[in-house]
Amino acid sequence: MAEVYGQLAFDFDELAREEARAQVDQWRDAPLHFTSEYYSPHELEEAFAHWTFLNGNFDSYRRSHMWHRGIAHEQQTVLGDHSGEMFSADLRSDRGHLGPGELLAQMICEPCDWHVITADENAAVEAWHDHALPGWRALPVVPAQIKVRHESGLTTVAKTWIAERYPADMQVHGAPIITERSPVGTRHVPSYSPWGGYDLSSTALDTPAAPRGSSRTVRRELPDFAGPRPCVTSDRGRGLGD
Ligand SMILES: [Zn+2]
Repeated sequence: MAEVYGQLAFDFDELAREEARAQVDQWRDAPLHFTSEYYSPHELEEAFAHWTFLNGNFDSYRRSHMWHRGIAHEQQTVLGDHSGEMFSADLRSDRGHLGPGELLAQMICEPCDWHVITADENAAVEAWHDHALPGWRALPVVPAQIKVRHESGLTTVAKTWIAERYPADMQVHGAPIITERSPVGTRHVPSYSPWGGYDLSSTALDTPAAPRGSSRTVRRELPDFAGPRPCVTSDRGRGLGD
C-alpha cells in the first residue's frame, strides 16, 4: 500500500512538473538563470527552488548559475535598520572546459533594496559593513595574542578586551569585531562577534594589529580603502543615510 501511495505521489509531482515546464514563460518572479539585478532574498530563493523543481537538484548550483544561499551563511545579520544576507552563484563550467565565469558572492540588504556582487565573499561582507556601519574600519583589531574563542564561544579575556576598547556605540546588536588571524585564517565569519555580528579578519584592513601589550590599537581612519572593489552595487531608492 505504501508503495502504491508513493507511486501516486510521484505521479502527481511529475504532473505538476510537466505543467510548470509548460508554463515557464509565464514565470514573472526572479529569472530562472543568473542575474545581476536586485532581487530580495525571498525572490531569489523562490526562483532557485522553482528551477530545481523543474530541473532536479543534481549539480543545480553549477547547472543553473543561479543565486543560492551560501552554505555557511544561512542566517541574516541584523544591524540597526540593516539586514545582511549572503548568496553565491557558481558561474564556473564543468571540469576540463573553459568556464563562463567564476564563483560570485552577493550580499543583500533587503530593508534598503541594496546589494553588492563581488568575486570574493570577503569583499561582499566588507562592502555591506561599509553600507551598514560606516566607521567600522577604525575599530580596534583584537591581536593574535588574545585567544578569541574556545569550544563554547568567545573567551572571557576576549570579551573583556573588546568591551574595554570598542566604542560604546559600536557595541550594538549585529556589530562586528576585527581579529588578527594566522595567514590562512582570513575568512570573515558571521555571528561570531559578542553581539551576533561578524568576526572580520584583520586582512579586511591594510593595517596590522597593535603590538603586544599596547592598550590602544588601530584607531587610524582609513578613508581610502585599497582592497578589492565590488563589481556591482546598487541601492534602489529609499535615501540611504537618512
Ligand atoms: Zn541596508
